[in-house]
Amino acid sequence: MARIRPWLSERLLLTRQATMDVIHSPKCLEYELQGHPESPQRIRLAADYLRRQGYTFIEPVACSEEDLLRVHTREHVDRIRRGSAFELDTPSRPEMYAFACLAVGAAITAAERQAFSLMRPPGHHAGRDFNGGFSYFNNIASAVAKLGRRTLIVDFDGHHGNGTQDIFRDDPKVHYLSLHGRGFPGTGLTSGSRYSNNALFGQVGDSVFLKSLEALLAHTPQTEQLAVSAGFDAYVDDPLASLGLSQDCYHQVGRLLAGLRLPTFCVLEGGYVPEALGPSIHSFLLGLNDTA
Ligand SMILES: [Zn+2]
Repeated sequence: MARIRPWLSERLLLTRQATMDVIHSPKCLEYELQGHPESPQRIRLAADYLRRQGYTFIEPVACSEEDLLRVHTREHVDRIRRGSAFELDTPSRPEMYAFACLAVGAAITAAERQAFSLMRPPGHHAGRDFNGGFSYFNNIASAVAKLGRRTLIVDFDGHHGNGTQDIFRDDPKVHYLSLHGRGFPGTGLTSGSRYSNNALFGQVGDSVFLKSLEALLAHTPQTEQLAVSAGFDAYVDDPLASLGLSQDCYHQVGRLLAGLRLPTFCVLEGGYVPEALGPSIHSFLLGLNDTA
């Protein structure tokens, strides 16, 4: 796989200050599926990198069942608890329930503290009544629903957040915006009154990605807060969803979102080059802090 150039980011960014707090528990590293790209190594290396940059780390607690039931059906919650929700990429085992609840709890803490949740499993492919795409419960949706504010969700993961769009499709307080490739899960090809999508084709690179994001942001409703599904698998070397983006592009994405001048929290989604994930997150958070 993959050329990796972490040295470049380290040299460019070491002199810059850490910004948002990071919500993280090393417990999320305690499960692994052999050969699965959603590996503990990606979060382990990212956490180590962000610690070296001086970020403050805060431990989350697991969410309650009530937190899950705001966005998921009782049947879905019970299937994940029993480990009986079959999906090829998202194996259902009873022990996953506790890991998934801790990731939801971290997203809620991130929302309450305007911080960045660095946890696994990701969540944006989990809908009201389904899991998929490595997602069991929808972390960001659970946090947005708990706070109950008018919210713009911006999802720049290389995949469409079909679960998040599904959960908020009838909610007038939430607008979902996503920029993604045309691969998995094959949704997000059209826009509607409560969601804005742009499905890009191939390795478009930084310039097209940023212009497309700017165009989508120009037509969003007024909200009280910004929730970011921060996925980094559109990165140039990513094996799953590359759109040819550089690490500097994530800095520019952060700057565009900072321009909205809204209270903001972020939840990690994808990003499957373990060595690149920390530098990409740091680049993004520095941009988000850049309100000049
Ligand atoms: Zn993704």
